[in-house]
Amino acid sequence: MKKRILVTGGAGFIGSHLCERLLNDGHEVICLDNYFTGSKENIIHLLENPYFELIRHDVTMPFFIEVDEIYNLACPASPIHYQYNPIKTIKTSVMGAINMLGLAKRINAKVLQASTSEVYGDPFVHPQSEDYWGNCNPIGPRSCYDEGKRCAESLFVNYKVQNNVRIKIQRIFNTYGPNMHPYDGRVVSNFIVQALKNEDITIYGDGSQTRSFCYVDDMVEAMIRLMDTQDDFTGPVNTGNPNEFTIKELAEKVIKITGASSKIVYKSLPEDDPKQRQPNIDLAQKMLNWEPHIQLQEGLEKTVAYFKKNVS
Ligand code: NAD
Ligand code: UDP
Repeated sequence: MKKRILVTGGAGFIGSHLCERLLNDGHEVICLDNYFTGSKENIIHLLENPYFELIRHDVTMPFFIEVDEIYNLACPASPIHYQYNPIKTIKTSVMGAINMLGLAKRINAKVLQASTSEVYGDPFVHPQSEDYWGNCNPIGPRSCYDEGKRCAESLFVNYKVQNNVRIKIQRIFNTYGPNMHPYDGRVVSNFIVQALKNEDITIYGDGSQTRSFCYVDDMVEAMIRLMDTQDDFTGPVNTGNPNEFTIKELAEKVIKITGASSKIVYKSLPEDDPKQRQPNIDLAQKMLNWEPHIQLQEGLEKTVAYFKKNVS
């Protein structure tokens, strides 16, 4: 069935892939973005599709439209960008959630929240499963993002309890791929851009901290499967690739794939940088019949090919 679907943050990295996939699946897509970290370049090729609409709007302001589903992705995701204007980041998560939930309530739409592994903070439990409540510093530099996203989860659950809004909460773990902004500051884009320019690769700390990297196509598949689950399944559900790497291993892989002559240099570790992160995806496997298929080597090769074409 053809659906009309609103994607907030649709001009961003994940949002642009989601818009394209939903159009390819035969739906009508309305992309809403204020272009804070996103770019028209990511979705310009979709503009010739008559079923695609682009709206410049900030989710902290109310927005009215008739749609069947809402994917709420609007929020900067890179630590550098979400810490640039922390109050705005909190407003985007919290007021954005209130506005999208209010809209969903009014028009009886289903609404999915792009939550994050950051709700687990710097976790004591490893790997992280959904029943872990996390270890977040409520007043640290990452708190604008972590606590904003945690508050958004609470809003989602309470709109379900109080108003019976049909909600889905997806906890997204580190995702990478084409359309990441080359200078957005996240580790995969930083390392690839540095390597392609044969510049120093900047590891923060000693590089022993871990992350588990999921290729964007796998993540988009999980989003769509979650939206399509029965109404009684709300999540939160972890989605990510459980294969865990140290940041040093990632740097070495990028150097090998690009053939760069870059040296690795060590910089100070940002405050509250999580030491380890790996999703337990048992729930996603069971409820979404989903697991990632694209492993780091293949995903990095595709991403390097994209950056080769798009970074001068
Ligand atoms: P991104 O920064 O590329 O995309 C975010 C988009 O939201 C951008 O297009 C930006 O312009 C837009 N935006 C920001 N504030 C807005 C506002 N107030 N109003 C309207 N639009 C606004 O980041 P991404 O990696 O594509 O992340 C998308 C979502 O997924 C975010 O909510 C993020 O928190 C979540 N997430 C991403 C990751 C990841 O590894 N990529 C991990 C966990 C969670
Ligand atoms: N990192 C790094 N060098 C960089 C950028 C990031 O060593 O140029 C590290 C960062 O300190 C963190 C990890 O890579 O430990 C992942 O950082 P990113 O900003 O991509 O996402 P996070 O998972 O921390 O939100």
